[in-house]
Amino acid sequence: MPIPLQSTGPSMKDYHCATQCSWCDGCGDYGIWTAIKRALVELHIEPTKTLMCFDVGCHGNGSDKLAGYRFHGLHGRVIPFAAGAKLSNMNLPVIAFGGDGASFSEGIGHFVHGIRSNYPITFILHNNANYGLTTGQASSLTWQDQPMNTAPNGMPEHTLNSMDFVFSLEPTFVARGFSGNIPQLTQIFKAAIEHQKHGFAFVDVLQACPTYNHFATHEYLLEKCYDANTEGHDPHCEAAKARALAMDSSKRIATGILYQREDVPNFYDRLKPREGKKTQCVDEVGKVDVGEFMEELV
Ligand code: SF4
Ligand code: MG
Repeated sequence: MPIPLQSTGPSMKDYHCATQCSWCDGCGDYGIWTAIKRALVELHIEPTKTLMCFDVGCHGNGSDKLAGYRFHGLHGRVIPFAAGAKLSNMNLPVIAFGGDGASFSEGIGHFVHGIRSNYPITFILHNNANYGLTTGQASSLTWQDQPMNTAPNGMPEHTLNSMDFVFSLEPTFVARGFSGNIPQLTQIFKAAIEHQKHGFAFVDVLQACPTYNHFATHEYLLEKCYDANTEGHDPHCEAAKARALAMDSSKRIATGILYQREDVPNFYDRLKPREGKKTQCVDEVGKVDVGEFMEELV
């Protein structure tokens, strides 16, 4: 007698989208795109029960390569609209994706306040150390002296130390992964999604960009990255210890969950007008008849 099929949540098929990916061969976006789908499937989150928000960039071209609710916004502005969506409905897992170019230049103000405000969202940084979509412009995270299309004689400025910067903002969750290690990335994404109830989860994904990044290549990252958690690193350590580990890439690059704390209230939980509310903002807005306003627009 056949065993009846039981619903165990979504499958990878549920996140499938017929629109084909247009990334270059060997692009790390494929690994990140696969890992986020796997993470959502393993967390039993249906495509219609989450919101994925995309910034502008090569990664942003993945916004229509997934099933479910997605939002593709303006350059560098992914954190404000992701945070706004989450604060209006705290039951919704919200994942924001941004590149290193916008996140550490045009959108850096939003990034700062996302972390210091401890917005209850997950932010995944596609860190390919350049602006890939605009054909290899140097970003704040491009290595100094590397020749790029906007700096053919080598990038003259020093590279921004992104982890030092992030830790200066007193984060509650910091992780780092590598686009070539999908199983580890999946576990990191799951932890970062679950951290939302505590606040802003920052995941730095070192991403191969074989077309424009000829320094931190897939092979280089494969060689240098190691799983710090399996080597005994406890993410609930002192911030100073995690910060030092995250910043030291001289010999090896620590990946995994590098820092986490759950004792800081997230932004929503600090909002006095929301104290004791049983409803979400989105429910309350739904009770307002906006028909009259809509008629004005017809
Ligand atoms: Fe990927 Fe780089 Fe090609 Fe963009 S330019 S799709 S980041 S390999
Ligand atoms: Mg980039």
